[in-house]
Amino acid sequence: MKPVNAYAAEKAKDPLKPFVIQRRDPGPHDVAIEILYCGVCHSDVHQARDEWGNSTFPMVPGHEIVGKVTQTGASVTRFKAGDMVGVGCFVDSCRECQPCRQHLQQYCEKGMNLTYNGVEKDGKTATYGGYSTNIVVDENYVLTIPANLPPENAAPLLCAGITTYSPLRQWKIKPRDKVAVVGLGGLGHMAVKLASAMEAEVTVLSTSDSKKNDAMKFGAKHFVNTRDGKAFTEYANFFDFMINTASGNINLEHYLQLLKQDATMVCVGVPEQPFSLNAFPLIMKRRRLAGSLIGGIKETQEMLNFCGSHGISADIELIPINKINEAYDRMVKGEVRYRFVIDINSLRSG
Ligand code: NAP
Ligand code: ZN
Ligand code: ZN
Repeated sequence: MKPVNAYAAEKAKDPLKPFVIQRRDPGPHDVAIEILYCGVCHSDVHQARDEWGNSTFPMVPGHEIVGKVTQTGASVTRFKAGDMVGVGCFVDSCRECQPCRQHLQQYCEKGMNLTYNGVEKDGKTATYGGYSTNIVVDENYVLTIPANLPPENAAPLLCAGITTYSPLRQWKIKPRDKVAVVGLGGLGHMAVKLASAMEAEVTVLSTSDSKKNDAMKFGAKHFVNTRDGKAFTEYANFFDFMINTASGNINLEHYLQLLKQDATMVCVGVPEQPFSLNAFPLIMKRRRLAGSLIGGIKETQEMLNFCGSHGISADIELIPINKINEAYDRMVKGEVRYRFVIDINSLRSG
């Protein structure tokens, strides 16, 4: 075991502060990684503040990890020291159930081993995430970061990127499809970049008028300020597909009415409060309401390669670790443009 500097919330709603964790020595199949950058996902805030009611403490958040391989176990074949690698939302899974065998580890029937707020394969040792200087992960759950992407901008791809890429692929988005993205935050801005690269006609539905120019820069064709009620009549029955990335509750009935017949809204945002819904907007045009959870390892690598070949990565604000509590507050206020990323060197020197 090796002591590692980290930042943790010791209990729900506590500010994060310095904390020392133990990382295992690399086993034969493990990759030891020196973490360089870690993105800050809104799920980190939800969980550190126990907004979903499933948090375990102390918690070291962080599941958008990029770093350099320092050491590999004797049986590791896919990585070597010096490689730039990524770790996303889970670090293992049962590997035997049908979803695992279909490369859908995020839907593992035994429950994936989350990168943090979870347990290791032994079923009891707590996992700790990327707000830390080092991590040890089985090579089957480690990703390769394309060499042409700046590693700090690539970090958010490990969650925000795959969470938006996976439904765009699952619902087979194609050129000229009219795609709506609800919420222009970390996930939303990746959804715009990815759907635009797939040549869809993208519209951003946002509560923040000040984000219009950025939306267009990311590839959107239209921007709709949803605080202006006119939007909901102007764009009625307009979209082939909608991805809802909002971290707060939206009026689903209003948004569903923007879909064409048989079109789908996929929810990826997980607000603290449950949705409520009148059935009519679904029934009247056979519209569909669906959900989607991150993506499997194979698809995550496919997404990273897609981003590499299209030169896509996140727009970020790099922060030292001691700004993390301020960053959480700014994220909740919607002030992030468009992802905070922690420079983990600040944790090494401190
Ligand atoms: P974020 O960067 O904070 O962005 C969320 C955006 O949602 C905000 O920028 C804002 O966009 C919009 N928004 C916030 N509150 C709203 C409200 N009350 N009504 C309407 N719009 C609102 O968060 P994120 O990191 O992208 O995460 C978004 C959500 O996805 C979180 O709930 C997170 O937990 C969840 N998530 C899910 C998965 C998954 O696998 N399904 C993976 C990662 C994250 P505008 O200013 O443009 O309105
Ligand atoms: Zn996330
Ligand atoms: Zn499984």
